[in-house]
Amino acid sequence: MQDESEASGASSSKKLLGLLEGLKRTPIGAVIYDQIARIVEEQGGVQAKVDHVYASLLHLLLNAYARDPSADHITRINARLIQLRRGPIIPRPRGKVPDDTIEEKLHKAAAAQVDLEAADTRVPETEPEPATRTKAAPAPSPTPTPPPRAGNGTTQAERRVDTAYRLHLEQQRNEIEKLQETLAKTVADAITQNREFGALLQIELRALQQANGDKEIEQLRQILVGGLEELIQGQNSLDTKLHKTGGYLRLIKADSERLQDELNKVRLLSLTDEFTGLPNRRAFIRRLQDEISRSQRYGSALALAMIDLDEFKAINDIHGHAAGDAILRCYATDVLTVLRHHDLVARYGGEEFAVLLPNTTREGAVAAIQKVRNRALQVVCEFQGRDFKLPTFSTGVALYSTGETHIDLIDRADRALYRAKRLGRNRVELEQGLPPAATQTRGQE
Ligand code: GH3
Ligand code: MG
Ligand code: MG
Repeated sequence: MQDESEASGASSSKKLLGLLEGLKRTPIGAVIYDQIARIVEEQGGVQAKVDHVYASLLHLLLNAYARDPSADHITRINARLIQLRRGPIIPRPRGKVPDDTIEEKLHKAAAAQVDLEAADTRVPETEPEPATRTKAAPAPSPTPTPPPRAGNGTTQAERRVDTAYRLHLEQQRNEIEKLQETLAKTVADAITQNREFGALLQIELRALQQANGDKEIEQLRQILVGGLEELIQGQNSLDTKLHKTGGYLRLIKADSERLQDELNKVRLLSLTDEFTGLPNRRAFIRRLQDEISRSQRYGSALALAMIDLDEFKAINDIHGHAAGDAILRCYATDVLTVLRHHDLVARYGGEEFAVLLPNTTREGAVAAIQKVRNRALQVVCEFQGRDFKLPTFSTGVALYSTGETHIDLIDRADRALYRAKRLGRNRVELEQGLPPAATQTRGQE
């Protein structure tokens, strides 16, 4: 403003004097010209002085504003930016500062202002983002999902645990969303604070370069120290918040892992016969369904043997139920374990076991059962200091026939077992329709 008025005043004076150039041609005219030129110059000087006084006053006011300790950063920065735009005022040898320096300063000040405005508009944009996202999104991918469902064989216990697990996950997701919001805001605040401080630092640095006298330098130093202290405080509080959040997230993680463990245990229990440690009937059915699919797809043989201990009731009656229990366990842990590890041995119920033999023909199944029988003959079961011989067992074997369901296959094996019992026990009966020589195998004769 000051420069503009000076410049326009100087050019109008020049024009005026240019019009009076003709006076110089005569001596009197030259004297008159000189007088006018002097008056014009003096007036110009007065105007410039008045402008300068106003400019100085404005500078002082802005300075006071910029250094007012009660004013916040933004106010101080804005005051400094206005000062920068106006260019340095006190002290300044008039007309000696090259124009390009002012232009340069104005350019930089404008750039700084653009930065500042961009920061002002950018920061709020980053804040609401997590809030809107977290409220709208029903279940984003970071949400932990429970392990695959058990399918139609799910127990009530499993369902109860699943429901509790889901509720818990829901709660945790809400907590994490809240944390995300708080963190996003904290980070946005920190960014704003850093930007403000960066702008203030630039301005104060420039002011320091142009500062005159110890007093002004001291004032600027105090502003910088104040700004630094605020920045450090902000950094510390951010650090504390991040630390707390980290601890909380660790708690949530540990909680989730514990729940997952419990869920796995329940799942495992629901597939295991606790009494013998063997897979239970549900586990057996699942595996049977899988093996049937495989057999249908690849045309591989699949044999099923249903084993039932003979006259087991009598053992209970004679030696007691606990002895019967011990013998059942012996069968599970010492006898049926002779089967190959990819055969599935399950406790089908009571004193009945199901053996699934993938990739096994009739002959193979019969041989496998014979192996079990031999083993049962060798094993002695010790219970309460007494040795017990193991009872014999009867077996019904059925081979999977393409297209039938797992229920059909079990039915056929069961029928064969029934026949084995009927025909005197301790024997293997194969599904009907096969030549007698291949279908009947006597055990202990
Ligand atoms: P069969 O040769 O016809 O199979 O005669 P069985 O006595 O074995 O058959 P039955 O169906 O008449 O009786 C089965 C017995 O098995 C009766 C039941 O108490 C016993 N049992 C089933 N489960 C257990 C168990 O977990 N522990 C004990 N100790 N006995 C069991
Ligand atoms: Mg029995
Ligand atoms: Mg039975």
